[in-house]
Amino acid sequence: MIVSKFGGSSMAYPEVVTKIIESDKDEGRIIVCSAPGKSVSEKTKATDLLLDLLKTKNRDRQIERILERFEKIVIDLPSDFKKEFLEKIRKDLTKNNDPNFLISRGEYYSAWALSYRLNTKFIDAVKVFRFDNDGTFNREASSKKIQEKLAGSRRAVIPGFYGADEDGNIHLFGRGGSDRSGAIIAASLNADYENWTDVDGILSGDPEAVKNPKVLSELTYEEVREGAHGGAGVLMGDSILDLEYGKGDVILKNTFNPSAPGTRIKKSRSFDGSKPVIALSARDDLLALTIHDLGMRDSKVYLAKILDILGQNNISIEHMPTAQDSITITFHNDD
Ligand code: ASP
Repeated sequence: MIVSKFGGSSMAYPEVVTKIIESDKDEGRIIVCSAPGKSVSEKTKATDLLLDLLKTKNRDRQIERILERFEKIVIDLPSDFKKEFLEKIRKDLTKNNDPNFLISRGEYYSAWALSYRLNTKFIDAVKVFRFDNDGTFNREASSKKIQEKLAGSRRAVIPGFYGADEDGNIHLFGRGGSDRSGAIIAASLNADYENWTDVDGILSGDPEAVKNPKVLSELTYEEVREGAHGGAGVLMGDSILDLEYGKGDVILKNTFNPSAPGTRIKKSRSFDGSKPVIALSARDDLLALTIHDLGMRDSKVYLAKILDILGQNNISIEHMPTAQDSITITFHNDD
């Protein structure tokens, strides 16, 4: 069993996604998808069009724009499906005023259309992702639902990004949250997690700063968290935390270059002493304060006092290297 999550840049080209999934008929696969994102011809993500619907004074015109956007992802499908699909979108967007419901529709329509293409079961995210009434994600209840509904199922398509509380009210994971949806399903099923985007994998450095960075073939969860903290993007830090509960690997793959091996992220791996540096990342939003004081280390409470002052002032520490007689404390600029 594998969980495959396709991001917005992939879902803007659902026929390409369909080809990838259909090329592997043997593997049991749960497919999680984002709303269509930017593409060569589209400058606005479907989710942003839906967010604009909440602000616009001309709701009818915005609904037409949204319909045009979704029509493009079903343009090659049979006309009776297209008709049903577009009529449902028009009805939902006209009749409903709940912001979370409206914003979540990008994922709902995207997954519904993909399940039609693949002739595969569609499972609404409200059936498997459970939130408490105050909007807190309920991991335990969700894992139970995921296991009940999905364990043993060969194939299903599920929208990412949202779930619901017991009363059926929709709650969102936050922008980019479909990464979390896929991670939570993978962890609950102890499955491997493929995350399909538009890059070949995690690079050993930012190409704007490092010449010819390599695609890293293997990393650990911890290294990815370190890298993300140090300024590298790709996977939401939170989704790595969700994966901590499962046993599988993460494989980052490129929808537009599917034969590339990608980057595999594992819980642990053997350390290759001949390559002591794995990757470089950089941030420019940090400040460093260095304190020099001869004899600093002789005092048992010196560091404790510094940490205490920072704690009292609610300042988090990004990094804190020490030497015999000096300490450097790195903070976020805003702190
Ligand atoms: N569609 C949502 C967004 O644009 C969630 C996602 O793509 O993961 O943030």
